[in-house]
Amino acid sequence: MYDWLVVGCGFTGATLAERIATQLGERVLIIDKRGHIGGNAYDYLDESGIRLSKYGAHIFHTYSEKVWNYVNQFADFNDYIHRVDAWVSGRYFAMPLNLETVNSFFDTNLTSESLQQFLYKKRVPIEYPKNAEEAVLSKVGWELYDAFYRSYTKKQWGIDARDLDASVTLRLPIRMDSDKRYFSDPWQGIPVNGYTSLFERMLRHKNIDLLLDANYREIASLVKFKRMIYTGNIDSFFDFEHGKLSYRSLKFEHMGYDTEYFQHVGVVNYPNDFDFTRIVEHKHLYKQRHEKTAVSREYPCWNEEEPYYPIPSTQSQQLYRKYEEAANKLRNVYFCGRLGTYRYYNMDQCVAQALHLFETQVSKREKVTVVG
Ligand SMILES: Cc1cc2nc3c(=O)[nH]c(=O)nc-3n(C[C@H](O)[C@H](O)[C@H](O)COP(=O)(O)OP(=O)(O)OC[C@H]3O[C@@H](n4cnc5c(N)ncnc54)[C@H](O)[C@@H]3O)c2cc1C
Repeated sequence: MYDWLVVGCGFTGATLAERIATQLGERVLIIDKRGHIGGNAYDYLDESGIRLSKYGAHIFHTYSEKVWNYVNQFADFNDYIHRVDAWVSGRYFAMPLNLETVNSFFDTNLTSESLQQFLYKKRVPIEYPKNAEEAVLSKVGWELYDAFYRSYTKKQWGIDARDLDASVTLRLPIRMDSDKRYFSDPWQGIPVNGYTSLFERMLRHKNIDLLLDANYREIASLVKFKRMIYTGNIDSFFDFEHGKLSYRSLKFEHMGYDTEYFQHVGVVNYPNDFDFTRIVEHKHLYKQRHEKTAVSREYPCWNEEEPYYPIPSTQSQQLYRKYEEAANKLRNVYFCGRLGTYRYYNMDQCVAQALHLFETQVSKREKVTVVG
């Protein structure tokens, strides 16, 4: 008999399991259908001893000191600052767009002050962008949109930018200076010994039992529990009764090389060439010294087994609302996380959401009867 069943062992599930076990002293069974902990942040050492992120580059970055202090209890973080370059017309350009990118692309000599005016002239005057294409055009105009955004967005989402929500491209900042950092958050880094070791420390507690290769569908009737936290896909919990929520997915091609470095930065984007969207060289992120290296190519796909990115469209939000309504009617079941609330959350946002759920609801809940 457990006080809680937590479904999903990513940042959301692990944060809630840790809080319940250590702060409430209650017993938790945490399960995952995969054979490992860590959710999408899982990493491991390959046959050469190089640390790899199985599901793509994961950089922890946050504006929240509370979240940063929370995760730092379980790992030492390195001081990695994320850099991304885009390979366009045979040259590298820093992303997100900054002063240097624009100067180099247009062969100009702009300063921070003149860049603003320059872009003002280039931009298409759209006051309220209705879609991802208009969102970019309203900031930088056609030339930069065509070179850096049009094909990349299409490749990534399988949908024309015109048919995607404006929020997709509004996420990308445009820097008026030469700041090459991909993220501007005050706190960023990667756990020195990897994410998996961070998760091991989060879950190492006498009140937490862990079960891997265990799908909720098969486990639910075999264990007894009083309350549940569900961080898997909300539509699958309800047997897809209103239809399937759409997700974008990725295929990863991991490759080893007998050379010290493959590329000069952690991530290179390929907006216009090749089928893959980007190449990640993990050693840059983990700051690992090794005579060999390993990279991962990322290919966008629609793999139903691995739902990664909720599709930000009005239609999918309307469908999600139906599941949210059904979820709100359930007692003693809490939906949380990227898949549980169908939101494009980063890791820090998942931790913040989980801490909030714990503080406002989980730790304040009423007594209940057994549901398992
Ligand atoms: C390619 C890629 C790159 C990313 N890069 C970054 C980054 O650089 N920085 C950043 O902050 N965020 C990044 N993210 C986002 C990050 O991965 C998520 O924010 C985070 O992993 C979500 O945590 P979660 O616990 O909500 O979900 P997940 O990590 O997805 O964990 C949910 C878990 O639930 C399990 N599960 C689902 N259904 C069931 C079931 N029925 N039974 C049992 N278990 C189940 C799944 O197997 C999974 O392990 C990236 C995501 C992707 C895909």
